[in-house]
Amino acid sequence: KAPEKMLTKELCNKRKPQPAVFIPVDRLPEIQAARLKLPVLGEEQVIMEAVRENMCVVLCGETGSGKTTQIPQFLYEAGYASGDGIIGITEPRRVAAVSMSQRVAMEMNMSTRVVSYQIRYEGNVTSDTKIKFMTDGVLLKEIQKDFLLQKYRVIIIDEAHERSVYTDILIGLLSRIVPLRNKKGRPMKLLIMSATLRVEDFTENKKLFPRPLPVIKVDARQFPVTVHFNRRTPTDDYVGEAFRKICKIHRMLPPGGILVFLTGQAEVHSMCRRLRRAFPFRSNRTGLESDPKDTEEERKWFKKAKQKKMLSLPRINLDNYSTLPVDEGDEDRQAGIGDEEDGSDLDLELGDDPGDEEEKCDPMLPLYVLPLYSLLAPEQQGKVFRPPPAGTRLCVVATNVAETSLTIPGIKYVVDCGRVKKRFYDRVTGVSSFRVTWTSQASANQRAGRAGRTEPGHCYRLYSSAVFSDFQEFSEAEITRRPVDDLVLQMKDLNIEKVVNFPFPTPPSMEALVAAEHLLVSLGALEEPPRVRSAKDMERVRLSCPITPLGRAMAAFPVAPRYAKMLAMGKQQGCLPYVITLVAAMTVREIFEETDRPAASEEENAKMAQRRARLGQMRRLWAGQGASLLLGDLMVMLGAVGACEYAGCTPKFCQENGLRYKAMLEIRQLRGQLTTAVNAVDPEARLYLDAKMAPPTESQVLCLQQIVLAGLGDHLARRVQVEELLDPKWHNGYKTPLLDSPVFIHPNSVLFKTLPDYVVYQEVLETSKMYMRGVSAVQEEWIPQILPRYCHFGPPLEDPPPRFCPDSGRVKCHCKSTFFRVGWPLPAVER
Ligand code: ADP
Ligand code: MG
Repeated sequence: KAPEKMLTKELCNKRKPQPAVFIPVDRLPEIQAARLKLPVLGEEQVIMEAVRENMCVVLCGETGSGKTTQIPQFLYEAGYASGDGIIGITEPRRVAAVSMSQRVAMEMNMSTRVVSYQIRYEGNVTSDTKIKFMTDGVLLKEIQKDFLLQKYRVIIIDEAHERSVYTDILIGLLSRIVPLRNKKGRPMKLLIMSATLRVEDFTENKKLFPRPLPVIKVDARQFPVTVHFNRRTPTDDYVGEAFRKICKIHRMLPPGGILVFLTGQAEVHSMCRRLRRAFPFRSNRTGLESDPKDTEEERKWFKKAKQKKMLSLPRINLDNYSTLPVDEGDEDRQAGIGDEEDGSDLDLELGDDPGDEEEKCDPMLPLYVLPLYSLLAPEQQGKVFRPPPAGTRLCVVATNVAETSLTIPGIKYVVDCGRVKKRFYDRVTGVSSFRVTWTSQASANQRAGRAGRTEPGHCYRLYSSAVFSDFQEFSEAEITRRPVDDLVLQMKDLNIEKVVNFPFPTPPSMEALVAAEHLLVSLGALEEPPRVRSAKDMERVRLSCPITPLGRAMAAFPVAPRYAKMLAMGKQQGCLPYVITLVAAMTVREIFEETDRPAASEEENAKMAQRRARLGQMRRLWAGQGASLLLGDLMVMLGAVGACEYAGCTPKFCQENGLRYKAMLEIRQLRGQLTTAVNAVDPEARLYLDAKMAPPTESQVLCLQQIVLAGLGDHLARRVQVEELLDPKWHNGYKTPLLDSPVFIHPNSVLFKTLPDYVVYQEVLETSKMYMRGVSAVQEEWIPQILPRYCHFGPPLEDPPPRFCPDSGRVKCHCKSTFFRVGWPLPAVER
């Protein structure tokens, strides 16, 4: 089938010969052979011609067709990296930026000095770098330094279908940068790559590109994948169902890797554990013989398998599963693999005649189980690309990362739970929660496609076709689902004053933009909007507050505005190193290992309870006593980082003390980076990084509490007093300005028992209750000083004492002196 090409008229009309540039690359023969099998290789000429003739081109091709690894090589060979220009590729995920740069360096037989990567905390870019993989956030920061991106000849925006916020903003910005570069006589090319054909938001968006962009479609050499739906209504125990499905596939179906999609790290781990227990991996096991080292459960399994002759199935016939032995105790025969095959339910191309697949079923291959998720250590992640040990079947238990950014070789069976874990934000209150929801049809089809990379495959969906047809067609762009305060600040710093007019591929809601501007004004990053009289005036000034000097200082820090404010204010009483550490710890995901996940057994449960108790003790120790205890969970973070660095930051120390090793390394790197950033913003600071840092003094702790209050001011909560208790659900609850319902201090917090009158929190996460995370106490009298915008200043009130005004949810307090607004630089906080 000839690939369908949608090229502009120009391209078809003016095919004037171009001087052929060709920079040879010395690849190994086996690499060259593997490359030639990739679909994009067949389209090299079309792609390169389109790039030559157009400023911006869109390339669509299935995952695994070779976009990420090959296009940079085409461009390199065509001379786009010769001279002083380089090729830049952005990825929404850090994992992808790192592993793809290594892969391309390997394919091109070049050093990582030439094919390099840059992610938020690290990179191996040198002055010799010609091809640079980076996260989209990194490129956005570079635009701030050099709007025209002079050093790039080509920018490739990869994985544009993911619609990550930074990708969207980048495309908006590049739609302006590319014509500007052209005008200045140093043309730059933009290549947008997507794994799906849904690119109209970019190509047909007149606000972005006045003329539709040329789209090149690469037909994937995809093998047919047979999709099997469940007939039953889906249950919530999809992990259990997936487990049973994998067991069946492994026992009954011919060799070929299995890829399982689950929603999160905890599920991935529990599944790996269950699978390893069910199919112990011992390379020299003879099959039927039980091993003295087997657990009771394994012995039982082998006994059963022997009775059922499952270990020596003679032949397999794919259209006749129902004659195969079915696991005893499986209440629901409907779940049997064969039963789901239902012609009416097949939505992908049907596989070739199943009868062709007459292979001997290996007698019980050992199962080689590997986890894959984004927080997994890189060397563990790399394992999925290497072939499994001889004579084993690969089973990768993955989260969404395996959907499009990484292509795992040798997968023949996909088990799809149909769910995805997403972070939901409440735009108004800023409360976020992780929720497991159904994925989209597009994602489910992507997942299915992973099965047909090397041969015809099968995808087992743990839900019915009726459920599937209710799925959203596509996942929405991230920008419509999250707060945009950081983006608005970055854009204002780029002197885009009227953010509403920015050419977003999909604009965020007005509500989100207003909330962002409101927060930034209250942080002092934007000027107060002028007072307006009419609605028309209102419309005019809305969302056009200019940035303040403090805002500029904040935008220079690579962290969210709330944290940037803390950094900008940290220059008091020698607090900066602590503020840097706090901000680093707060921006890194999950520094403490998860101890709340469900245990697999009674015994494990007891062990985990013991461990939780020990870790709780450790946290209280880090929090200290008196003033430092009131800094609360933030003091615990400081203590944890200090203690860990003091102990040399070893994996052993982290393991023993419930810290995530990878997070601690990240914190160390981020501290270094933030120290550099602070020195750049304020050369007088002359900071250097003292990793071990001495504990803060008492007055420093008080100062830190105020700095935290200044940054997290809109996350202020007041404890509900006994006399206000109307409803028992408010017991020990806190009132916040924006929420109607109470929020609580999490039992893991060191302030759980202290219950201070006023606290600020890092975020509210909704699990069984609305819990505040990262809680720190604040003193009441600081609030009107530091957060005047959140206070009512009325006539002096003697009695009752200043409190939140229940109607407005604001703090009501009287005004004894003139209060100063917190700005940059701040007069030293007097104590
Ligand atoms: P796309 O970007 O179109 O999804 P890629 O360029 O990522 O495709 O992948 C092309 C091929 O290269 C795939 O077959 C994939 O399996 C292979 N590949 C990618 N990275 C690695 C790696 N680190 N090791 C081995 N093979 C890899
Ligand atoms: Mg790719």
